Amino acid sequence: MVLIQENISLKEFTSMRLGGPAKYFCSCSSVEDLKEALRTARSKNLPVHILGGGSNTIFSDNGFNGFVVKINLKGISFYETGNDVLARVQAGEGWDPFVRLTVEKGFAGIECLSGIPGMVGATPIQNVGAYGQEVKDAIESVTVLERETLKETELKNEECGFSYRTSRFKTHDSGKYIVIEVKFRLTKNGRPAFHYPEVRKIVETSVNLSSLADGKESLEAVRNVVLSLRKKKSMVIDPNDPNTRSVGSFFLNPIVDDAMLTQIIAVWKKSGGGTPVPTFPFEDKTKVSAAWLIEKSGFKKGYTVNGVGISGNHTLALVNYNGTTKALLELAEEIRNGVEKMFNLHLELEANVIS
Ligand SMILES: Cc1cc2nc3c(=O)[nH]c(=O)nc-3n(C[C@H](O)[C@H](O)[C@H](O)COP(=O)(O)OP(=O)(O)OC[C@H]3O[C@@H](n4cnc5c(N)ncnc54)[C@H](O)[C@@H]3O)c2cc1C
Repeated sequence: MVLIQENISLKEFTSMRLGGPAKYFCSCSSVEDLKEALRTARSKNLPVHILGGGSNTIFSDNGFNGFVVKINLKGISFYETGNDVLARVQAGEGWDPFVRLTVEKGFAGIECLSGIPGMVGATPIQNVGAYGQEVKDAIESVTVLERETLKETELKNEECGFSYRTSRFKTHDSGKYIVIEVKFRLTKNGRPAFHYPEVRKIVETSVNLSSLADGKESLEAVRNVVLSLRKKKSMVIDPNDPNTRSVGSFFLNPIVDDAMLTQIIAVWKKSGGGTPVPTFPFEDKTKVSAAWLIEKSGFKKGYTVNGVGISGNHTLALVNYNGTTKALLELAEEIRNGVEKMFNLHLELEANVIS
């Protein structure tokens, strides 16, 4: 039987360390627990919020007037298939410990996603990505429990609607499913990927990759480069680094059409800007750096107001020093308004705000 607790403070369960209490809270270690929690919430006619590691979640200062269901399903197994390995991972396994394990075993495919906090089950939700890799490129399938029918279904990668920091689980099927297991296809004794210029530069200058063996040795070298880059930007959770009390990137990098891009460049030139606008091609459009837009709209790293601020190490990360959710959302609005005024562009939130 699942233990249902009342009036539980939510801030301890999030990386932002913000939010009031949950009316009901339970931690589920099996699919049966999950079904029981969903049935109980239904019998009380209360909403349910699914919580992984809380590293992309901001709860309201008033908390959540319903059931917060924490995913705690555990288990990892590997199966060889030709040159590949299939990893079956339960949703409540920690993401980075799983990445570390695959690197140690010499399995390539997710090494650049080292250091991302949170649970495996949340990775398909926003298709986590960093340093030129996205989880969608390694996901074979996602097994879900449908909240309404309590039916389990395995969705193939192509059925998940993955795109930049999104999926069907975040868009048209938001709130419909609970991810219970993810299967990854990795390459046995593989070479690391390091297409991202910042990673490539360090790997080429500091690591003699050609002297390193395929598999564990070379994958570990790239993992270490990624972790050290992330640490410098306060992107690896560290209780001793107050800049890590964040949700990582607070805003998405906007994807714009040619007309919008021309407008951004024109505004920038008119304001006296000489350097090029940092952009990345994205399908038939262009992704623009949200951090750059924020800085050029007048918001600097380290800007602090009412106990919250912009990280001293990363413009895209908003940080809670000793503030409230209200103060954080006001700061987010101030930044959005500033960017809108300067570039006539609306920034979308990457983080999940739950009230
Ligand atoms: C310091 C820092 C650095 C970060 N860097 C990155 C980065 O480089 N790239 C990146 O993409 N993200 C990054 N993030 C954001 C975050 O770590 C990821 O989005 C991560 O996948 C969230 O996992 P979680 O378990 O903490 O999710 P939570 O915050 O608990 O949940 C996030 C969302 O997913 C839903 N959810 C969680 N688990 C399940 C489940 N099993 N089934 C259904 N829905 C579920 C929740 O309801 C919520 O809507 C960073 C965050 C921090 C704090």
